[in-house]
Amino acid sequence: MDCVADVGTRLSAPRTAAVVGAGWAGCAAAAELGAGGVSVTLLEASDVLGGRARRLPLELAGDRHVLDNGQHLLLGAYTETAALFEQLNVAIDTVVERRPFELRYPDGFRLQAARLPAPLHLAAALITGRGLDFSDRAAMIALLSALRKSRWNIGSDRSTTEWLLERGQTPQVVRRVWRPLALAALNTPLDRASAQIFASVLRDSLGAKGSASEMWVPRADLSALLPDAVERYVVARGGAVRRDARVDRIDGPNNRGDRFRVHFRNDPERAIEVDAVVYAAAPTHLEHIVGRSEALDATYEVLARFEHEPIYTVYLKYAPSVRVARGFTALLHDPAKRRYAQWVFDRGALDPANQGVLAAVISSSGPHEAESLEDVCQAVAQQLTADLNLPAPVDTRAIADRRATLAAVPHLQRPPNRTPWPGFAIAGDWTASDYPSTLETAVRSGRTAARALL
Ligand SMILES: Cc1cc2nc3c(=O)[nH]c(=O)nc-3n(C[C@H](O)[C@H](O)[C@H](O)COP(=O)(O)OP(=O)(O)OC[C@H]3O[C@@H](n4cnc5c(N)ncnc54)[C@H](O)[C@@H]3O)c2cc1C
Repeated sequence: MDCVADVGTRLSAPRTAAVVGAGWAGCAAAAELGAGGVSVTLLEASDVLGGRARRLPLELAGDRHVLDNGQHLLLGAYTETAALFEQLNVAIDTVVERRPFELRYPDGFRLQAARLPAPLHLAAALITGRGLDFSDRAAMIALLSALRKSRWNIGSDRSTTEWLLERGQTPQVVRRVWRPLALAALNTPLDRASAQIFASVLRDSLGAKGSASEMWVPRADLSALLPDAVERYVVARGGAVRRDARVDRIDGPNNRGDRFRVHFRNDPERAIEVDAVVYAAAPTHLEHIVGRSEALDATYEVLARFEHEPIYTVYLKYAPSVRVARGFTALLHDPAKRRYAQWVFDRGALDPANQGVLAAVISSSGPHEAESLEDVCQAVAQQLTADLNLPAPVDTRAIADRRATLAAVPHLQRPPNRTPWPGFAIAGDWTASDYPSTLETAVRSGRTAARALL
């Protein structure tokens, strides 16, 4: 992956720092700075921590449910996220349910990794899988072995569709295995998605040790999962977390001695001064907040080329007895037939307070975007009725995040966390990584940005 030159330096570690934005990147940065003995202030524009992975209270059929802005799934390959949980003293099994890799459809198709060391866990999945014939299994084995041999490097980057065709993947394997996995991970239509980024995800999940391919299903809402624990951690180390604190402008040390001055919208009196800043809010606002700066020109150029992709989460409420076998399942995705959802999760499986609530996920752009949210809900309800034999839901709600992630296109260039401006680092799922925009990318970026300042 290309990235712009990494040339920033700082002479001494900061005593105070501000982190702008309490998404998972900002939270990770704040925890790392706190651990490094820095007095950190985490500043969040909204009244809830977590950004694009946060708690969302919703009323469905007159009942109040605590859900999320979007259904999320974590992977065993999220090593920095796991390390952060450990740092926060959060036992992973208390916040997520860990399951061996599993791809199962309501019609009986199934690929399920065994609890065995790699690569036996995958071999077992291929041997015991249902719905694949000999040529499908042979194609998958050939692809994974070729990737391993090339050290997960596909050569010149190209679209995932093109690459899978070149690699002789059968229509069944593409439709049932690679497409749902690539859409879930890259959130980009396969015709436009980077095969190299997909290969990196496969390297660290299916290609690594058995536990790396685990699927981690959140037990709690997404703010409770990590950001709330970060708040406790930061405050316990003398730092502070400020909600409803929208940063409007940051003046650099060149303007005022050797410190940064952070200004707030609607609160000009309460500007704060700090030795260092991690900017972990949206890339689109960086230039407005920091202003024109020669040091950041190269960063702005990279950001101007970003494209985004949407994710819709459709919540459907049924009678409490309605369940999805094993907690979640893949769905056959066929947008031309208005079969928009790719996965459905049973929110009551791990939290009895949400019994009867299902969350269906529609990753990346598609024809559903031309429909009203009500029509999308209706299409998903029909899809679930047909596939899972469910009655009509008693209530539905679609949440569309139209800029959910960066489009993971070939040759995607992202700026490094360290900037040429001493004392100023950037973090977020839009910064340098060989991964797509995910929670793990956000967490890694936050920790790297903080370490660059320390
Ligand atoms: C619907 C949906 C489903 C997803 N599913 C998955 C999944 O299953 N698995 C996975 O790994 N990833 C998933 N992702 C991606 C993942 O959520 C993101 O990659 C991650 O949350 C990005 O975190 P971040 O900290 O980089 O950015 P953000 O979460 O966007 O954080 C930025 C924060 O900055 C705050 N902010 C903005 N402006 C200001 C300002 N001026 N002053 C102060 N604060 C400000 C914002 O309010 C926000 O809290 C999903 C994303 C969405 C939207």
